[in-house]
Amino acid sequence: MDNRIIDFLYPPRCPVCDGLRPIGAPRCHPECRRKLTPVGSCTCMLCGKPVPDETAEYCYDCASRGESSFERGVSVYLYEGDIRDSMVRFKFHRREEYAGWYAEELLASQGGKLTEFAAEAVIPVPIHRRKMRHRGYNQAERIARELADNLDLPMYEDFLMRNRYTVPQKELSNHERIRNLMRALEPGWQAEVLARKGSVPKRVILVDDIYTTGSTLEACSAVLHRTGVEHVMAATVCIGGGYS
Ligand SMILES: [Zn+2]
Ligand SMILES: [Zn+2]
Repeated sequence: MDNRIIDFLYPPRCPVCDGLRPIGAPRCHPECRRKLTPVGSCTCMLCGKPVPDETAEYCYDCASRGESSFERGVSVYLYEGDIRDSMVRFKFHRREEYAGWYAEELLASQGGKLTEFAAEAVIPVPIHRRKMRHRGYNQAERIARELADNLDLPMYEDFLMRNRYTVPQKELSNHERIRNLMRALEPGWQAEVLARKGSVPKRVILVDDIYTTGSTLEACSAVLHRTGVEHVMAATVCIGGGYS
């Protein structure tokens, strides 16, 4: 659809303050964007979380996890304040249009690393169909689609499937959480079709909205490896602090 028609049907809103913005203006008010905290350049070599200083190679979670099934992570903003509110509206209040700006920000701040990784496909973290029915869309898929379009890569939304409904289990250790999540995930029909054709991508960008402990991305990427994917880069819009 023509962008002007889309703007007319869905008046464009700033993803940070949710206020209307003039048609044709940047996707986010510049003054709103300035209120957010970018992850900066001092980040964990593995997941992309900020670390206190340059001498720390890994964040606490990555250092204590040991072996990881994805090899790199990139993110844009610290998960706090205005961007946290933005993500809540994006996820629970049908502001799926924010996905375009999120992908734009990912490319603006991490475009170099994303391109260098030379991925062959983009895959979103899946959600259970019950959640999908309730929410109307998978928020990770929305961001993955925008990112894939920009990088000119295929996006496989049914490569991974969530077969069991899981509730967040905060009392579990990270390791137990990963194990539980792995049991709730399986390769989807797209993984099977690509396997039959011998064209499972070797390098993929795995997309989610938020990175907290990393257990979701860890579990997804372990299942990706079972399908023949060899290298996984995790890309998220927001990430928790590494030393809080
Ligand atoms: Zn704004
Ligand atoms: Zn880390």
